[in-house]
Amino acid sequence: RIVILRLGHRPVRDKRITTHVGLTARAFGAEGMLLASDDSKLAENIMDVAKRWGGEFYVRNDVNWKAEIRKWKEEGGKVCHLSMYGVNLPDAASDIGQCEKLLIVVGAEKVPFEIYEMADWNVAVGNQPHSEVAAVAVTLDRIASTDPLKKEFAGGELKIIPAERGKKVVDNRLEGRD
Ligand code: SAM
Repeated sequence: RIVILRLGHRPVRDKRITTHVGLTARAFGAEGMLLASDDSKLAENIMDVAKRWGGEFYVRNDVNWKAEIRKWKEEGGKVCHLSMYGVNLPDAASDIGQCEKLLIVVGAEKVPFEIYEMADWNVAVGNQPHSEVAAVAVTLDRIASTDPLKKEFAGGELKIIPAERGKKVVDNRLEGRD
């Protein structure tokens, strides 16, 4: 099980990028996202999308990151902080992939230095600056034992039928109507 901890979200400025962190985490197999800021509307928006498209993804709004990391570690979980300054992912992916309970931490602006110390791994998705969305996607893909792109999302209202052209979407809400 994998959960994402999103630090430093600024409600107006980071609205789109934090939404994309959540949706990417869900699409690539994380079970939920902890948001270390207060933006209940954003959390609800992500959960609305998740409900429409299936699966069990959750967002917990306004968590205390330090308490969450401590609790996670007390429960035997490991913490992987994504930072361009860390050990390059290809050198750590197989170790991290063996972890059964993993918290992946991503920042927005500068991350508190304590995070570097609390993390079991400080990992770079290449040692160049880019984006938390890309960092989450590539990490979840590289540490996975089964292909995250083949994941099925049960119970959704909407499901895409892959098509070479155009858009094919099954809307389960319309099923069974007279
Ligand atoms: N300037 C900030 C700093 O020094 O911590 C980082 C800003 S960056 C836009 C926001 C987040 O994206 C980072 O906290 C990190 O989680 C993630 N990120 C960006 N580039 C990364 C990389 N090459 N490897 C891993 N994570 C990265």
